[in-house]
Amino acid sequence: NRQILFKNFVVGWPQESDMEFVTTKKKLELREGQKDVIVRVLYLSCDPCQRGRMRNSTDSYIPPYTPGKPIEGYGLGKVILSSDPAFNEGDIVSGLMGWEDYSYGFRLVKIDDLALPISYYLGALGMAGFTAYVGFFRICEPKKGDTIYVSAASGAVGQMVGQFAKLFGCRVVGSAGSQQKVDLLTSKFGYDEAFNYKEEPDLDAALKRCCPDGIDIYFENVGGKMLDAVLVNMKVFGRIAVCGMVSQYNKEVQDPIYNLNYTVKRRLKIHGFLQSDHMDVQPEFFKNVIQWFKEGKLVYVEDIADGLEKGPAALIGLLAGKNVGKQSVKVADP
Ligand code: NDP
Repeated sequence: NRQILFKNFVVGWPQESDMEFVTTKKKLELREGQKDVIVRVLYLSCDPCQRGRMRNSTDSYIPPYTPGKPIEGYGLGKVILSSDPAFNEGDIVSGLMGWEDYSYGFRLVKIDDLALPISYYLGALGMAGFTAYVGFFRICEPKKGDTIYVSAASGAVGQMVGQFAKLFGCRVVGSAGSQQKVDLLTSKFGYDEAFNYKEEPDLDAALKRCCPDGIDIYFENVGGKMLDAVLVNMKVFGRIAVCGMVSQYNKEVQDPIYNLNYTVKRRLKIHGFLQSDHMDVQPEFFKNVIQWFKEGKLVYVEDIADGLEKGPAALIGLLAGKNVGKQSVKVADP
């Protein structure tokens, strides 16, 4: 069993050396009195929230990683042993699993109908797509014709938010950190306007150009200076769905936000959310998103690192914006 172990808690930017690739002969077994499922890991998801689990802090919605144990996260696997009557050998499942060849699986969902390529079930039809769906349809309170601005717009969540918003009838604006990503936004994901925030450090000017009438909805993925610039460009009664703040995850002290007074001037609603609080939406999400893909109304761009040993570089690359689309790691063929 090959594994990626978490070595020790991280301060600042994580390095590949904070993780260790090892091979062990220890075999996983079904444990007495437990409903265990052991999977052959097929794909692993790289997610910004994994950075939070490298911090020596329990002040979060998810516990930190344990030094010396495998990294864990969302993945796809094939059941090889099960003492849980809900799962049979050969089932393809998604859920939480370790960064290793064979792992116990947790919070598993059986994928009955592989209507789309399997890797989609880790992103567009997985946690990222679900986050985008919940965030847009439940948190943003969209109205047709609204201008929505999405940061980290070409990423796993952002690309889906933009497409949902466009299908719904919004005017959609996004930003990303390279020309290649900005081109994807307008040529592939249907964004009406997009800019490269690294080339245009005057974020206020870029937002005024792309959203001359102001912003009704901000889908917040990055935080920091971006949030500050957005606040002054929000329209009265605007909504901000706070999905994440990836620009802050490697900082020990968070950037100050100077323009919070605009929440009153513009009567804004700012709503932080976690996808896992909205599981009641999941059946509707699967039904609609699978159908929209089948009808050709959605596209999906993913960035798949090939091989478990590539996992650490892929995860760190994600935090530096090296990924183009949803970052995942292929561990084995189904
Ligand atoms: P992405 O695929 O968007 O990858 C992360 C991207 O963040 C990078 O590609 C990079 O894109 C961008 N980024 C990195 N550093 C910075 C920075 N300093 N300033 C601006 N952008 C930066 O990841 P996800 O789609 O998986 O996640 C997007 C957001 O959604 C994150 O904040 C994440 O924490 C959050 N999230 C929240 C969930 C919830 O339930 N609330 C669930 C899942 C994700 P670029 O090149 O464009 O800079």
